[in-house]
Amino acid sequence: MFNYLPYEGESLKVCSFECERNCSEVCCNGATLITIEELKSFYDVFPIYIGFRKYTPIDREHKIFLQNIGGELDDYFIVGDFIAGNRFRRECLGLDNDNLCRLQKEGRKPLQCKIVPFCAIYPESAQDLIFKQQKTSKFANCKGYRDSTEIDKVVWKDGVFTDYYLKDAFFNFQQGLAKQSPFMKEILLHIYKEDFFKDFMEGEGVLEMPIPLPLLFDILEEAGFSDEEMLQFIISQVKLCLRELTEGNAENTVIEDWYNELIEFVKEYNNFVDKSKKNV
Ligand code: SF4
Ligand code: SF4
Repeated sequence: MFNYLPYEGESLKVCSFECERNCSEVCCNGATLITIEELKSFYDVFPIYIGFRKYTPIDREHKIFLQNIGGELDDYFIVGDFIAGNRFRRECLGLDNDNLCRLQKEGRKPLQCKIVPFCAIYPESAQDLIFKQQKTSKFANCKGYRDSTEIDKVVWKDGVFTDYYLKDAFFNFQQGLAKQSPFMKEILLHIYKEDFFKDFMEGEGVLEMPIPLPLLFDILEEAGFSDEEMLQFIISQVKLCLRELTEGNAENTVIEDWYNELIEFVKEYNNFVDKSKKNV
């Protein structure tokens, strides 16, 4: 996703796009983004942690949206999301041997992956600017861009998505951002005075961190997890993190921190259960 939208060129009337599916190396590497509403669908596939990005609004409508989903600090809005995967990996954990998305085959492709090359942090009406920007940057080698004259490939026209699959994913992602924002704002309140946060504000890029354990169970409850599923979440995350640290690229210190926090929690939980048994 963009931290800012620097492109100030001419608007497009239409955006034409169709995923070619044979260049997944461009968009299916490392990690993807998910919202709180997708945690239940993907906790068994990806290690999941948090990422904060800073944005500047492009207009009044965008400012109201950013105020709703993020925290305001200095001249920026800070928006948090859930990062699913390991960005140091060359290939996404969801990719199958045939180079196609396994999760799509299973009917659970992440919303963010359905939205590519657009971006739900910006208004629907500004997606042409995102489209143009992507074409010259991160998605320069994406083969899905079509000529605007290919009428049957038009997915966005005159400020709105005309492709309903995309439109649906776009607004569901925005809905997820709004739902998770109270948690993200609470985390921001706890970290905004820390040195690492100041470095983030002064620099570029993403601030990544584990999900804070004191908030984890509230987040999982909001995401619709039962008590049993919460336990499964912890077990799956421990296994997935361990796999990244042993078989994947161990340089991901956030996954390492997330793993250590989870192990600490499991130890405390086991001690608690042992003590409870003795007291019975
Ligand atoms: S790079 Fe573009 S065309 Fe290729 S798989 Fe990704 S979205 Fe589809
Ligand atoms: S989840 Fe699927 S579409 Fe998304 S990055 Fe991974 S392999 Fe690609």
